[in-house]
Amino acid sequence: METILITGGTGYIGSHAAVCFLEAGYQIVLLDNLSNSHAAVLQRIATLTGQSPPFYRGNIADAPLLDEIFNHHKITGIAHFAGLKAVAESVQQPLRYYQNNVAGSATLCAAMQKHGCKKLIFSSSATVYGAPGAVAYTEDMPLAPVNPYGRTKRMVEDILRDLCAADSDWRVALLRYFNPVGAHPSGLIGEAPQAVPNNLMPYIAAVAVGTLPVLHIFGNDYPTADGTGVRDYIHVQDLVAGHLAAYAALDKHPGCTAYNLGTGKGASVLEVVAAFVKAAHREIPYQFQPRRPGDLAEYYAAVDFTREKLGWQAQFDLQKMVEDHWNWQKNNPKGYL
Ligand code: NAD
Ligand code: UDP
Repeated sequence: METILITGGTGYIGSHAAVCFLEAGYQIVLLDNLSNSHAAVLQRIATLTGQSPPFYRGNIADAPLLDEIFNHHKITGIAHFAGLKAVAESVQQPLRYYQNNVAGSATLCAAMQKHGCKKLIFSSSATVYGAPGAVAYTEDMPLAPVNPYGRTKRMVEDILRDLCAADSDWRVALLRYFNPVGAHPSGLIGEAPQAVPNNLMPYIAAVAVGTLPVLHIFGNDYPTADGTGVRDYIHVQDLVAGHLAAYAALDKHPGCTAYNLGTGKGASVLEVVAAFVKAAHREIPYQFQPRRPGDLAEYYAAVDFTREKLGWQAQFDLQKMVEDHWNWQKNNPKGYL
């Protein structure tokens, strides 16, 4: 029986992964410092699965706490979600991002090595690619992130690649997410931003539920079909199913491998708004604004490598993503509060 330590396990994606791994028969232990999540999610996980996995409130950079966890549980692998993720904040507070995401991950890896646990799946991001010039990103493209957040992801990837090069017992999957959205179909868990959302889907959801007055669409003069930015949105349930496949494949694939987790299809901001209007049966007022600095016109995942190696591909379309996102938001207008 495998026991997986899920760091960032009360966060948006980590909580969905917790449910997914429990349902697949794994034992799990959750670690989170609650810097961007609520303990209330633990009860929701219990309601959904009938299980209450052990939860440690603490920091991935706390080596004594990690020792305690490894000593109390036979941890066989790690799903490492813990991290700060706001791009604009990372530009303002780079040291906080390098300390939390990079130094924290190095401490986690040191604890793994010390306790002989060498299997890890890591939450990387499509931001590691930067602006490679093509719109379908393949895993072998050079990495050139353009902001501190993206650089923390590349640095942790580098650490993990180096660990695998130094010790052939390590098995690591670098999971490069495109744009995760949606929620568990029950509406019991979902994304609960603690401040004004930066990302498109939670912003639209907040406008739909009435906590924000209007959506600002950043740019309508891009060289795309309708002039608005195009991204590869992926249902969080598909995303965590990809983690399950990646974790299971670690036994077959030694070393360090990067996988894109996306659908391979792009949707424009206006297409996302239209899908949300259809799901929520209410208007989403919007205004066009200038382009957001640093944004690209269009990109999406090349998905062939992941499909071939992991036998996984996304199942859910944009309409299902927004329906589930709206179902969560309308039942929990204030998130977990
Ligand atoms: P989230 O903020 O909801 O979850 C991250 C969790 O990590 C939070 O619960 C937070 O409290 C916790 N955390 C942060 N620093 C910690 C630390 N030092 N010690 C312990 N816990 C800590 O974010 P999410 O959307 O679930 O993202 C999960 C991971 O996926 C992050 O690493 C993020 O960078 C990455 N990612 C997210 C997206 C996205 O759009 N959501 C896209 C690409 C990559
Ligand atoms: N976007 C927008 N208004 C918002 C947030 C985002 O128009 O309030 C656009 C953004 O310019 C991009 C797309 O929506 O084209 C997705 O942005 P998001 O921040 O969700 O993800 P990104 O791909 O930038 O990480």
